[in-house]
Amino acid sequence: MSSDTLLYKGHLYEKLQEDYRIKEGLKACMNCGVCTAVCPAAEFYKYNPKNIVNIVQRKDEEELEKLLKSDTIWYCGECMSCVTRCPRGNAPGLIIMALRKLSMLSGYYMESEKGRQQYILVKDLCNNILNHGYCIYPRNFDYEEHKEYGTVGKWINENLDDLHKRMGSNLDGEGPGGLRKIPQESLDQLKKIFDVTGATDLMNKVINDAHQQAEKENLSDEDYFKKVYTVNNSSKHLNNG
Ligand code: SF4
Ligand code: SF4
Repeated sequence: MSSDTLLYKGHLYEKLQEDYRIKEGLKACMNCGVCTAVCPAAEFYKYNPKNIVNIVQRKDEEELEKLLKSDTIWYCGECMSCVTRCPRGNAPGLIIMALRKLSMLSGYYMESEKGRQQYILVKDLCNNILNHGYCIYPRNFDYEEHKEYGTVGKWINENLDDLHKRMGSNLDGEGPGGLRKIPQESLDQLKKIFDVTGATDLMNKVINDAHQQAEKENLSDEDYFKKVYTVNNSSKHLNNG
Protein backbone atom coordinates (compact mmCIF):
# COMPACT_ATOMS: atom_id res chain seq x y z
CA MET A 1 0.00 0.00 0.00
CA SER A 2 1.43 3.40 -0.99
CA SER A 3 2.01 6.16 1.56
CA ASP A 4 -0.75 8.23 -0.14
CA THR A 5 -3.23 5.42 0.37
CA LEU A 6 -2.22 4.89 4.02
CA LEU A 7 -2.93 8.55 4.70
CA TYR A 8 -6.50 8.28 3.45
CA LYS A 9 -7.57 4.77 4.41
CA GLY A 10 -10.35 4.85 7.03
CA HIS A 11 -10.69 8.67 6.72
CA LEU A 12 -12.36 8.90 3.34
CA TYR A 13 -15.62 10.51 4.44
CA GLU A 14 -13.72 12.97 6.62
CA LYS A 15 -11.46 13.90 3.67
CA LEU A 16 -14.47 14.28 1.38
CA GLN A 17 -15.93 16.83 3.76
CA GLU A 18 -12.95 19.09 3.03
CA ASP A 19 -14.18 19.46 -0.57
CA TYR A 20 -16.66 22.33 -1.00
CA ARG A 21 -18.43 20.28 -3.70
CA ILE A 22 -19.65 17.82 -1.09
CA LYS A 23 -21.04 20.63 1.07
CA GLU A 24 -22.77 22.18 -1.95
CA GLY A 25 -23.77 18.92 -3.58
CA LEU A 26 -25.15 16.78 -0.76
CA LYS A 27 -27.93 18.05 1.42
CA ALA A 28 -30.28 15.12 2.02
CA CYS A 29 -30.79 12.40 -0.54
CA MET A 30 -34.09 10.51 -0.35
CA ASN A 31 -33.02 7.88 -2.88
CA CYS A 32 -35.76 8.71 -5.36
CA GLY A 33 -33.62 7.86 -8.42
CA VAL A 34 -34.57 10.94 -10.47
CA CYS A 35 -30.84 11.66 -11.03
CA THR A 36 -30.36 8.18 -12.49
CA ALA A 37 -33.48 8.53 -14.66
CA VAL A 38 -32.18 11.73 -16.32
CA CYS A 39 -28.49 10.78 -16.43
CA PRO A 40 -27.22 10.22 -20.00
CA ALA A 41 -24.23 8.23 -18.73
CA ALA A 42 -26.57 5.80 -16.92
CA GLU A 43 -28.15 4.98 -20.26
CA PHE A 44 -24.90 3.65 -21.70
CA TYR A 45 -22.74 2.61 -18.77
CA LYS A 46 -23.22 0.31 -15.78
CA TYR A 47 -23.67 3.43 -13.76
CA ASN A 48 -26.14 4.71 -11.20
CA PRO A 49 -25.60 8.16 -9.61
CA LYS A 50 -28.32 7.48 -7.02
CA ASN A 51 -26.27 4.60 -5.61
CA ILE A 52 -23.13 6.73 -5.51
CA VAL A 53 -24.89 9.49 -3.56
CA ASN A 54 -26.30 6.84 -1.23
CA ILE A 55 -22.85 5.42 -0.44
CA VAL A 56 -21.51 8.88 0.40
CA GLN A 57 -24.54 9.73 2.52
CA ARG A 58 -24.17 6.49 4.52
CA LYS A 59 -20.52 7.36 5.28
CA ASP A 60 -19.66 3.72 4.74
CA GLU A 61 -15.83 3.66 4.60
CA GLU A 62 -15.63 0.18 3.08
CA GLU A 63 -18.08 1.02 0.28
CA LEU A 64 -16.40 4.39 -0.27
CA GLU A 65 -13.04 2.69 -0.72
CA LYS A 66 -14.54 0.25 -3.25
CA LEU A 67 -16.09 3.18 -5.11
CA LEU A 68 -12.79 5.08 -5.28
CA LYS A 69 -11.05 1.99 -6.67
CA SER A 70 -13.76 1.34 -9.26
CA ASP A 71 -14.40 2.50 -12.82
CA THR A 72 -17.84 3.75 -11.75
CA ILE A 73 -16.92 7.30 -10.77
CA TRP A 74 -15.24 7.88 -14.15
CA TYR A 75 -18.38 7.28 -16.25
CA CYS A 76 -20.00 10.64 -15.37
CA GLY A 77 -19.88 13.18 -18.21
CA GLU A 78 -20.21 16.14 -15.79
CA CYS A 79 -23.22 17.41 -17.78
CA MET A 80 -25.02 18.35 -14.53
CA SER A 81 -28.47 17.31 -15.82
CA CYS A 82 -28.96 15.63 -12.43
CA VAL A 83 -28.48 18.95 -10.63
CA THR A 84 -31.40 20.59 -12.39
CA ARG A 85 -33.82 17.75 -11.53
CA CYS A 86 -32.99 16.64 -7.99
CA PRO A 87 -36.04 17.40 -5.82
CA ARG A 88 -33.78 17.84 -2.77
CA GLY A 89 -31.35 20.27 -4.42
CA ASN A 90 -28.46 17.79 -4.39
CA ALA A 91 -25.78 17.79 -7.09
CA PRO A 92 -24.66 14.21 -7.79
CA GLY A 93 -22.34 15.50 -10.52
CA LEU A 94 -20.46 17.64 -7.99
CA ILE A 95 -20.28 14.75 -5.51
CA ILE A 96 -18.73 12.60 -8.23
CA MET A 97 -16.17 15.32 -9.03
CA ALA A 98 -15.14 15.36 -5.36
CA LEU A 99 -14.88 11.54 -5.35
CA ARG A 100 -12.66 11.66 -8.43
CA LYS A 101 -10.28 14.08 -6.80
CA LEU A 102 -10.12 11.97 -3.64
CA SER A 103 -9.52 8.85 -5.73
CA MET A 104 -6.52 10.55 -7.34
CA LEU A 105 -5.13 12.00 -4.12
CA SER A 106 -5.41 8.66 -2.32
CA GLY A 107 -3.94 6.73 -5.25
CA TYR A 108 -6.99 4.40 -5.46
CA TYR A 109 -7.64 5.54 -9.05
CA MET A 110 -4.65 3.47 -10.19
CA GLU A 111 -6.70 0.32 -9.50
CA SER A 112 -9.23 1.15 -12.21
CA GLU A 113 -8.92 1.12 -15.99
CA LYS A 114 -10.77 4.42 -16.37
CA GLY A 115 -8.91 5.94 -13.43
CA ARG A 116 -5.52 5.16 -14.97
CA GLN A 117 -6.70 6.93 -18.13
CA GLN A 118 -6.44 10.22 -16.25
CA TYR A 119 -2.83 10.04 -17.41
CA ILE A 120 -4.04 10.62 -20.99
CA LEU A 121 -6.10 13.63 -19.94
CA VAL A 122 -3.18 15.15 -18.08
CA LYS A 123 -0.61 14.52 -20.81
CA ASP A 124 -2.82 15.56 -23.71
CA LEU A 125 -5.75 17.75 -22.72
CA CYS A 126 -4.32 19.57 -19.68
CA ASN A 127 -1.07 20.30 -21.48
CA ASN A 128 -2.97 21.56 -24.52
CA ILE A 129 -4.92 23.92 -22.24
CA LEU A 130 -1.76 25.20 -20.56
CA ASN A 131 0.29 25.54 -23.76
CA HIS A 132 -2.37 26.69 -26.23
CA GLY A 133 -5.52 27.60 -24.29
CA TYR A 134 -7.60 24.83 -25.91
CA CYS A 135 -8.19 21.28 -24.72
CA ILE A 136 -8.03 20.06 -28.31
CA TYR A 137 -5.27 21.72 -30.32
CA PRO A 138 -5.43 20.64 -33.99
CA ARG A 139 -1.66 20.64 -34.61
CA ASN A 140 -1.21 18.05 -31.89
CA PHE A 141 -3.56 15.65 -33.63
CA ASP A 142 -1.56 12.96 -35.37
CA TYR A 143 -3.45 10.81 -37.86
CA GLU A 144 -0.92 7.99 -37.49
CA GLU A 145 -2.04 7.61 -33.86
CA HIS A 146 -5.76 7.80 -34.73
CA LYS A 147 -6.27 5.78 -37.87
CA GLU A 148 -9.87 5.21 -36.81
CA TYR A 149 -10.56 8.69 -38.25
CA GLY A 150 -10.20 7.16 -41.70
CA THR A 151 -9.28 8.90 -44.92
CA VAL A 152 -11.10 12.14 -44.03
CA GLY A 153 -9.03 12.40 -40.84
CA LYS A 154 -5.87 11.76 -42.85
CA TRP A 155 -6.80 14.50 -45.33
CA ILE A 156 -7.58 16.96 -42.51
CA ASN A 157 -4.22 16.22 -40.92
CA GLU A 158 -2.37 16.85 -44.16
CA ASN A 159 -4.30 20.02 -45.12
CA LEU A 160 -4.80 21.67 -41.76
CA ASP A 161 -3.89 25.26 -42.63
CA ASP A 162 -5.79 25.27 -45.90
CA LEU A 163 -8.84 23.71 -44.23
CA HIS A 164 -8.97 26.21 -41.38
CA LYS A 165 -8.51 29.10 -43.79
CA ARG A 166 -11.45 27.88 -45.85
CA MET A 167 -13.60 27.32 -42.75
CA GLY A 168 -12.92 30.89 -41.61
CA SER A 169 -11.17 29.99 -38.37
CA ASN A 170 -8.04 31.82 -37.29
CA LEU A 171 -5.75 28.91 -36.36
CA ASP A 172 -2.73 30.33 -34.49
CA GLY A 173 -3.45 33.79 -35.90
CA GLU A 174 -3.33 37.13 -34.08
CA GLY A 175 -6.60 38.92 -33.25
CA PRO A 176 -10.09 37.45 -32.92
CA GLY A 177 -11.53 34.22 -34.29
CA GLY A 178 -11.82 30.54 -33.47
CA LEU A 179 -8.56 28.77 -32.54
CA ARG A 180 -6.71 32.11 -32.49
CA LYS A 181 -3.35 32.32 -30.75
CA ILE A 182 -3.92 32.89 -27.05
CA PRO A 183 -1.61 35.64 -25.70
CA GLN A 184 1.18 34.47 -23.39
CA GLU A 185 -0.14 36.74 -20.64
CA SER A 186 -3.46 34.85 -20.64
CA LEU A 187 -1.65 31.49 -20.66
CA ASP A 188 0.41 32.65 -17.66
CA GLN A 189 -2.80 33.52 -15.81
CA LEU A 190 -4.20 30.10 -16.67
CA LYS A 191 -1.07 28.49 -15.23
CA LYS A 192 -1.50 30.50 -12.02
CA ILE A 193 -5.08 29.24 -11.71
CA PHE A 194 -3.81 25.66 -12.09
CA ASP A 195 -1.17 26.36 -9.41
CA VAL A 196 -3.39 27.96 -6.76
CA THR A 197 -6.24 25.47 -7.18
CA GLY A 198 -3.93 22.47 -6.74
CA ALA A 199 -4.46 21.27 -10.32
CA THR A 200 -0.71 21.48 -11.09
CA ASP A 201 0.12 19.30 -8.07
CA LEU A 202 -2.55 16.80 -9.08
CA MET A 203 -1.22 16.67 -12.65
CA ASN A 204 2.30 16.05 -11.36
CA LYS A 205 0.99 13.30 -9.11
CA VAL A 206 -0.76 11.56 -12.01
CA ILE A 207 2.39 11.74 -14.16
CA ASN A 208 4.51 10.43 -11.31
CA ASP A 209 2.07 7.57 -10.54
CA ALA A 210 2.05 6.61 -14.22
CA HIS A 211 5.84 6.65 -14.35
CA GLN A 212 6.07 4.36 -11.31
CA GLN A 213 3.47 1.99 -12.77
CA ALA A 214 5.35 1.89 -16.09
CA GLU A 215 8.51 0.93 -14.20
CA LYS A 216 6.64 -1.82 -12.34
CA GLU A 217 5.37 -3.20 -15.64
CA ASN A 218 8.79 -2.87 -17.22
CA LEU A 219 7.48 -0.50 -19.88
CA SER A 220 8.78 2.80 -21.19
CA ASP A 221 6.57 5.81 -20.34
CA GLU A 222 5.59 5.97 -24.01
CA ASP A 223 4.54 2.31 -24.18
CA TYR A 224 2.64 2.63 -20.90
CA PHE A 225 0.81 5.68 -22.33
CA LYS A 226 -0.19 3.68 -25.42
CA LYS A 227 -1.32 0.75 -23.31
CA VAL A 228 -3.49 2.89 -21.04
CA TYR A 229 -4.84 4.79 -24.04
CA THR A 230 -5.94 1.78 -26.02
CA VAL A 231 -7.24 -0.59 -23.36
CA ASN A 232 -11.03 -0.68 -23.31
CA ASN A 233 -12.82 -3.56 -21.68
CA SER A 234 -16.21 -2.46 -23.00
CA SER A 235 -18.15 -5.50 -21.75
CA LYS A 236 -17.17 -4.44 -18.24
CA HIS A 237 -18.37 -0.87 -18.70
CA LEU A 238 -21.32 -0.78 -21.06
CA ASN A 239 -24.96 -1.58 -20.24
CA ASN A 240 -25.23 -3.78 -23.29
CA GLY A 241 -21.71 -5.19 -22.90
S1 SF4 B 1 -32.42 12.91 -7.47
FE1 SF4 B 1 -31.54 13.80 -5.61
S2 SF4 B 1 -32.78 12.94 -3.92
FE2 SF4 B 1 -33.17 11.70 -5.75
S3 SF4 B 1 -31.66 9.99 -5.61
FE3 SF4 B 1 -30.71 11.60 -6.84
S4 SF4 B 1 -29.54 12.83 -5.40
FE4 SF4 B 1 -31.00 11.63 -4.19
S1 SF4 C 1 -23.43 15.12 -14.15
FE1 SF4 C 1 -22.83 12.96 -14.27
S2 SF4 C 1 -24.24 11.94 -12.90
FE2 SF4 C 1 -25.15 13.94 -13.35
S3 SF4 C 1 -26.51 13.59 -15.09
FE3 SF4 C 1 -24.53 14.24 -15.93
S4 SF4 C 1 -23.43 12.33 -16.35
FE4 SF4 C 1 -25.12 11.83 -14.96
